[in-house]
Amino acid sequence: MQGWEIRVRGQVQGVGFRPFVWAVARRAGLVGHVLNDAEGVLIRIAGDEDACAQMQRALRAEAPALARVDAIELRRWSVPEPAPEGFDIAASGPAGAETRVTPDAATCADCHAEILDRGARRFRYPFTNCTNCGPRFTIITGLPYDRPNTTMAAFEMCPACRAEYQDPGDRRFHAQPIACPDCGPRAWAERGGEVLEGEAVALAAEALLGGEIVAIKGLGGFHLACDATNAEAVARLRTRKHRPTKPLALMAARAVLARHAAPSREEWSLLAEPAAPIVLLGRAGEALPEALAPGIDLLGWMLPYTPLHHLLCAAVDRPLVMTSANVSGAPQVIGNEEARTKLAMIADLFVMHDREIARRLDDSVERVLPSGPMVLRRARGRVPGTLPLPEGFADAGQVLALGGQMKAALCLTKNGQALLGHHLGELDEAETWAAWQAALSDYRELFDHRPEVVAVDLHPGYLATRAGEAMGLDLERVQHHHAHLAAVLGENGWPLDGGKVAGIVLDGLGLGADGSIWGGEVLLGDYRGFERAGYLRPAPLPGGDAANREPWRNLLARLDQAGLSELADRLVPAPARTVLRQAIAAGVNAPMSSSAGRLFDAFSAALGMAPARMSHEGEAAMRFEAAAARSTTQEAYPFAVSSCGEIDPAQMWQAWQADGAPKTPGAAARFHRGLANAFAEVARGLVESGRAEAVALSGGVMQNAVLLAHLIEALDGLPLLLHHAVPANDGGLALGQALVAAARRL
Ligand code: ZN
Ligand code: ZN
Ligand code: FE
Repeated sequence: MQGWEIRVRGQVQGVGFRPFVWAVARRAGLVGHVLNDAEGVLIRIAGDEDACAQMQRALRAEAPALARVDAIELRRWSVPEPAPEGFDIAASGPAGAETRVTPDAATCADCHAEILDRGARRFRYPFTNCTNCGPRFTIITGLPYDRPNTTMAAFEMCPACRAEYQDPGDRRFHAQPIACPDCGPRAWAERGGEVLEGEAVALAAEALLGGEIVAIKGLGGFHLACDATNAEAVARLRTRKHRPTKPLALMAARAVLARHAAPSREEWSLLAEPAAPIVLLGRAGEALPEALAPGIDLLGWMLPYTPLHHLLCAAVDRPLVMTSANVSGAPQVIGNEEARTKLAMIADLFVMHDREIARRLDDSVERVLPSGPMVLRRARGRVPGTLPLPEGFADAGQVLALGGQMKAALCLTKNGQALLGHHLGELDEAETWAAWQAALSDYRELFDHRPEVVAVDLHPGYLATRAGEAMGLDLERVQHHHAHLAAVLGENGWPLDGGKVAGIVLDGLGLGADGSIWGGEVLLGDYRGFERAGYLRPAPLPGGDAANREPWRNLLARLDQAGLSELADRLVPAPARTVLRQAIAAGVNAPMSSSAGRLFDAFSAALGMAPARMSHEGEAAMRFEAAAARSTTQEAYPFAVSSCGEIDPAQMWQAWQADGAPKTPGAAARFHRGLANAFAEVARGLVESGRAEAVALSGGVMQNAVLLAHLIEALDGLPLLLHHAVPANDGGLALGQALVAAARRL
């Protein structure tokens, strides 16, 4: 008899990994044990060569649905005397041994089948789950992940559930949120504070089909739902929520979704992942109200991800709007009492339940781009998944990175892993700022994080920067676009000493190293540092912050700069124009910026696609991209590239005017291609002259599929580093900050 010790690293705790190993060991006739510890799962087996090989194969090929195996390490194990007689699941190490938490997962196929089975104990039970699915991060109150440390602690298991929980051969062995109609949470419907008689799902379906707005308590917060095919209901929801144009997310079962969209195979598989993100899909088939996403050809869809959602979607047999329940800009509502007060003026009916939400998590938003799937908003289903730190970062220690002001998210490094936290929102909003502070202490406490260094943005006015300064720890200030660059390097596992890359960072705004505002850069560098090798020619941001919400301000500044003041006179209304020109001339509240995002806004305004005042970030840019996507032209407007890497859009504006200043999809497409060509030219020069090893793409503008496709085409033949699991926007900033701060100290 020979012995082996197998170490398994990755997402292997709380996902049914030990019972899986137990079953394989039994099957192969191995003896020994399996346990959870601080590094993952440890397996000690004794038996013959073949049986051991069988175990190794199974670890790779048959791991449970929610497991992610990062590494398997094999060592000899000297089998104790006398040898073990069977195979056991041994007790975990002491408290603190289990360090990983699994993200929440959508209802699995087995549980879905069970709630539809009239004969099953859990027929139509809205809280059905098992080891392969169900709530995780949203119900955890402490570690290790055991039932007393979840919001399921309040529910005592009935004998039937307990028997399943204790049976290693059962799908629910050690499923902490296990529940049934006899012992678990229950759902009910309320109207005007009165609990209604009857099944919550049936009552909600009736209200939705009648055009009403229903608040539904979900996994990471409340949603507001209405019938997405009912334009009046959609309009009423928008009015009550004070949300005039921002796109609304939709939920539908597969067959219903397929009536209104035509997902590719890659999009279907993304929709069906256990994370069940919102996936942006083109409109197709039966039309839905334009008001769901005005001016945009994409709609955000998700599949039902809890039993409650499945029952509801089946009952209505049509798509539902499922938007975060919040009051304009504030964080999503999570408590029952909070919902009753805050949503009273919005929702007609409430579907409540009595399982508490320990942690607010929005739905994740993702999109399949020319580069593959990309996470745009990282939240439910993705967090707290970790990323292994790249080679060279083994001694990085514990770093805390606080992110930026917009799309705020935190990042913690520990044990060679980076944990990029969930989307928290815009910190200008007082309630979001409070939620950010709460999330900071929550993460630090839950993961027992004791940072030696804190990383912040260079911008002294960001709330997160000030919070970092007040912590009394060593502080590392990281330039905004350098952090974006490091984020994309890190997610691609670029080694600490992998050499320099050319980073094309196209973004909104960030404070530059020279004190001006950046946002359209080519940075030549690595984790440790960078130089600015290319940039968009700066233009004034007339009115400062107002220029972020009012695209015509940027149009005026850019046209005047290009010597096209007469064209500007035709496109920008008179009174505002005069005042603005005076301010620009006097340099009053008109800081210079190389922001690519603001140039996109300017051209969107030129094409008449931008509202005078945007009601949400990205409104002008998304319509502009949608227009460009409708054109098939291969032509490009020229951007001049100087020898010092300055990219000047003046020629582009002049070419557009020479065309007759058309407000067409073709013009939008020519702009996209021209800009991509110019940035690609600078980056290609850096690689071909041997100064850079690869090209990396980051910044919020990389969410633009048309631009990304042109960049990939223009950079053909060069090694490319692109975003996938980490947002290209400011939601990924904290990862980059953490890596830069760590690199400076290694
Ligand atoms: Zn399940
Ligand atoms: Zn039960
Ligand atoms: Fe940014």
